[in-house]
Amino acid sequence: MVIQQNYSLKPHHTFHFNVQADFFVAPESKEEVIEILKAPVCKSNPLLILGGGSNILFKSDYKGLILKPNIQNITVVDEQENNLWVEVGAGVDWDYFVEWSVKNNLYGIENLSLIPGNVGACPVQNIGAYGVEVKDVIKQVNGVYIDTLESFSFKNEECDFAYRNSIFKNHLKGKVIITSVVFELKKQAELKLGYGDVLEKINELGEQNLVNTRKAIVHIRESKLPDPEVIGNVGSFFKNPVVENSIAHKIIEQHNNVPHYKIGDTLCKIPAGWMIEQCGWKGRSLGNAAVHEKQALVLVNKTGKANGEEVLRLASEIEKSVKSKFGITIEKEVNVI
Ligand SMILES: Cc1cc2nc3c(=O)[nH]c(=O)nc-3n(C[C@H](O)[C@H](O)[C@H](O)COP(=O)(O)OP(=O)(O)OC[C@H]3O[C@@H](n4cnc5c(N)ncnc54)[C@H](O)[C@@H]3O)c2cc1C
Repeated sequence: MVIQQNYSLKPHHTFHFNVQADFFVAPESKEEVIEILKAPVCKSNPLLILGGGSNILFKSDYKGLILKPNIQNITVVDEQENNLWVEVGAGVDWDYFVEWSVKNNLYGIENLSLIPGNVGACPVQNIGAYGVEVKDVIKQVNGVYIDTLESFSFKNEECDFAYRNSIFKNHLKGKVIITSVVFELKKQAELKLGYGDVLEKINELGEQNLVNTRKAIVHIRESKLPDPEVIGNVGSFFKNPVVENSIAHKIIEQHNNVPHYKIGDTLCKIPAGWMIEQCGWKGRSLGNAAVHEKQALVLVNKTGKANGEEVLRLASEIEKSVKSKFGITIEKEVNVI
């Protein structure tokens, strides 16, 4: 295990800003994670845990140690007639694992195809897409506490999962390193096709099956979202605000065709992308940063030369516009470092 110094982070985060870390290390096992946590470089520097860097915005160089768990195993730990339990190392690429599950005829995560990032980060914001959240299939999250080096194993119900949220984003933020996640996948067909244009796309492809579900979702995502390897971005930059019904009704009265989704009896979700578009931001640039022309929720490193400050300046102008037009404060989904 080598500790790199003055290490370029450009390939390690999907905005691809030209930033570096004072120190960088990629342990390949839980034992190596613990070893590095005991090392002097870890005790005397700020520490950041990095996955694929697809939900991180670096404002500047990182003055400390970046630890990127590179634990690469996919191990079947239990099997019954209908279900299979699999433990996956934190460093495994998320979409590689989805592909593995589809190749092995296992159901549950196919709707989460093509989400960038690593398995270790998937519980942090409870990744979700096309009507599925990863909490639906997580059985257990394993790791170590940074301070005490003690191991933990949280059951699903101990992770406080909610919409793009979990205990790892709140109470345990910066306190733990997730080293592996145990998933419970199904052996029988249980497709969820009722979201957006998934069903239509599958019917175009032919039979309604696991392979075609993954194909359809990959196709839809590729047609809507910019590939971070071509144009730097972190997917949705803002969360979709959830507001009281009374606030939502006011907006619906004042504007035409407001898309909205009821959450329980009292709350309503209004897509942030729609509000940003209504404010005229879609496709607009500010310096080297821009709002993507197809999806207003995505901010991009348009020229490849943007830095974190520039993207944050654009985000701040957007937040002000949305506040002034709709009276709603939109929150960033991305982790600003
Ligand atoms: C084009 C694009 C599309 C996207 N689409 C979606 C989508 O549909 N749905 C969705 O939910 N998200 C989406 N995202 C966001 C992103 O893919 C997810 O948030 C993903 O889980 C981030 O994984 P990562 O490994 O890149 O995490 P990073 O960005 O590296 O880290 C994210 C956070 O998790 C922490 N972390 C990372 N690894 C660990 C670990 N092992 N232990 C403890 N903490 C850790 C980091 O410190 C940081 O706070 C998209 C991003 C992009 C670029």
